[in-house]
Amino acid sequence: MFDIAIVGGGMVGAALAVATARAGMKVALLERQMPVTISEHSEVDLRVSAINRRSEQWLQDLGAWPQLMTSRLAPYATLRAFEGDAAPLDFTAAELGEDHLGHIIENLHIQQALWQQLPDTVERFCPVQLQGYQQMNDYASLQTDQGEIKARLLIAADGAQSQLKQLAGIGSQGWQYSQACLLVHVSTSYSALPMTWQQFTPQGPRAYLPLPGREASLVWYDDHLRIQQLAALPPQQLAQQIQQHFPAELGEFSVLKQGYFPLTRSHANQYVKGRLVLAGDAAHTINPLAGQGVNLGFADAQCLAALLIKQFAAGADLAAPALLAQYESERRKANLLMMSAMDVFYQVFSSKLTPLVQLRRLGLQVAAKAGPLKTYVGKYAAGLV
Ligand SMILES: Cc1cc2nc3c(=O)[nH]c(=O)nc-3n(C[C@H](O)[C@H](O)[C@H](O)COP(=O)(O)OP(=O)(O)OC[C@H]3O[C@@H](n4cnc5c(N)ncnc54)[C@H](O)[C@@H]3O)c2cc1C
Repeated sequence: MFDIAIVGGGMVGAALAVATARAGMKVALLERQMPVTISEHSEVDLRVSAINRRSEQWLQDLGAWPQLMTSRLAPYATLRAFEGDAAPLDFTAAELGEDHLGHIIENLHIQQALWQQLPDTVERFCPVQLQGYQQMNDYASLQTDQGEIKARLLIAADGAQSQLKQLAGIGSQGWQYSQACLLVHVSTSYSALPMTWQQFTPQGPRAYLPLPGREASLVWYDDHLRIQQLAALPPQQLAQQIQQHFPAELGEFSVLKQGYFPLTRSHANQYVKGRLVLAGDAAHTINPLAGQGVNLGFADAQCLAALLIKQFAAGADLAAPALLAQYESERRKANLLMMSAMDVFYQVFSSKLTPLVQLRRLGLQVAAKAGPLKTYVGKYAAGLV
């Protein structure tokens, strides 16, 4: 019998496995596909995340940060937002007395660093197929193609399409946004800038994220049809479209690869059901506009791990209803706040209504001068408050 069985060995599930196993819990980690091995020279994967300072600190605490290859990290010290020819709104690390605000890192790279930190005591089931799930009075069990796995507590960290959440009959509320986003990796004629920028246009934002070396990840938001058409273009034609629709500051570049993603918001109706608890994208998906998705997932994992470690040390039931209710209450509030803030942001910045366009330009100008408020927003985005 395991103390905990975690379904999903992505960034959130692997972080939870490291934290709980280190505290002495007997942990099973189930992952349906073997993690890809990343080396110094492998191609940069399309899926990257902006890792804020709070997540960075947690990865440090878990010992995973030093496992990351510095040559594959792209730090940024400025977050810039602008529209038209109005002056940009810059959040800088220097204003906060810091040397950076975060790093752009491939999801697979973070997952690998966390797997390298898994204690030997963690039993890995990978690749594994989940077939069913049951809850008993004092344990829960998973049916898999490798047999039955029993644990006091199950954690669903199996991403946005969580199978375990579906098996448990937990519903979600949410919607698909009217826009989709295209991710394009490009090689540039200059070394990555130590900044990320986002330009707002009536059709949707365009963003630049630095990647290591002379590469960058461009993000283009527009309606589904337009994004699908762009995603299907050969590299040279896509490059021409980018030249026409991205700011001239992008300079010379060539397209390396591209992929498109629908934008969905979903929030599970409950994070807890008996001996099952949800974390990360299994519990919530958020508009990636401000790159907060996995930062919320890591905050879930950090909160849940801290509660479980205390409970385990006291020799109490890891699935005690009061304990799991405390996790849900803390994290639901924080996640909802960030999701709602992103929605307001999305609505305001994707509007073509002239008064709103004027208002947001004005808003950016005012915000650029609003000292303490601006400092607070900068700290919030960097995960420093
Ligand atoms: C276009 C786009 C851009 C984004 N940009 C950012 C960003 O800049 N910053 C940011 O913080 N976030 C960003 N996100 C969100 C971020 O990618 C997710 O929040 C993050 O990947 C969630 O991590 P997770 O571990 O919860 O889930 P996942 O990364 O989805 O991992 C789930 C894991 O579970 C495994 N799994 C799935 N089903 C099963 C099963 N049945 N059995 C066993 N294993 C299973 C999967 O193989 C996977 O390894 C972005 C998302 C999108 C779509």
